[in-house]
Amino acid sequence: SVRNAGGDRIVSLSKSSHVTLNRNSIIEKRLLLALDQKNLHVLYQPQLDVKTGKFTGVEALVRWDDEEIGVVSPDELIPIAEETGLINNIGSFMLEKACEQAVLWKKAGHNIKVSINSSVREFRDKNMAKSILATLERTGCPASLLQIEITEKFALEAEAETSIIKQMRTLENEGIVFALDDFGTGYGSFRYMQLLPISILKIDQTFIRSLKFEKTQQLVNGMVQLGKSMNLTVVAEGVETEEQKDFLTNIGCDILQGYFISKPSSSNGISSLLV
Ligand code: C2E
Ligand code: MG
Ligand code: MG
Ligand code: MG
Repeated sequence: SVRNAGGDRIVSLSKSSHVTLNRNSIIEKRLLLALDQKNLHVLYQPQLDVKTGKFTGVEALVRWDDEEIGVVSPDELIPIAEETGLINNIGSFMLEKACEQAVLWKKAGHNIKVSINSSVREFRDKNMAKSILATLERTGCPASLLQIEITEKFALEAEAETSIIKQMRTLENEGIVFALDDFGTGYGSFRYMQLLPISILKIDQTFIRSLKFEKTQQLVNGMVQLGKSMNLTVVAEGVETEEQKDFLTNIGCDILQGYFISKPSSSNGISSLLV
């Protein structure tokens, strides 16, 4: 049993909750150490520009293989990091890496836009915009090469927090582009598109996975046309088959991302794909 926030009541937990609590606190401890020793790393997943047939961007995805607890997937890691506040440390680590990498590719003659994923908790830091701009400056990365992906969950919370929207606008004015990730999975997607400075829609993988159904085809077609009518760039996530790629190409989707295009890979792996 654990004490609740009030401190006076004892709440009893099932055995499996204890196991989860334990694992979460081990993850938290190991994560602190990993951040300190810079033992996290980054994989980059290419994004294919349909019109040019070239890779014009990559999404940076965190990876962690801890020597004691093994691989911890982002789906397990990120919620714990959000809860404990360590997401801010992960975020600055990823930002730094992404900027450094974009500069390396630029020096090699490739203008590759690097997208990072941000959690709303990072933007509750009043200095978030300032520290992103400082990182661009320090690494020499042009603002135009950085994109920030936010989820609908982020958007839902940001809606009521004007200081978050203000920071997003500041960054947008500097040339950083925002993408709405996992588009279509939450509710209220359309409201956020009005409210937030979003230039890219990333259609969620679940829709792409169901493209064999005619109804889903119509739905995805609608999303792409909607995005285009609003002058947004439309990205499809989770493209796993040639049929999906062909369909998305035919309806005018701008950018494709997914295992069929390329799996996430190391920066060296990406460099070898750039010609
Ligand atoms: P996301 O931002 O929607 O990223 C796409 C996820 O789909 C990645 O999973 C990627 O590896 C996976 N994926 C890409 N193509 C395919 C495909 O064709 N099929 C399938 N089944 N999956 C594909 P990953 O790397 O496990 O990340 C999961 C989620 O964790 C991300 O979803 C993102 O929300 C979050 N995340 C990852 N890295 C970070 C980070 O550095 N910061 C934050 N705040 N969140 C992160
Ligand atoms: Mg993403
Ligand atoms: Mg996504
Ligand atoms: Mg996702």
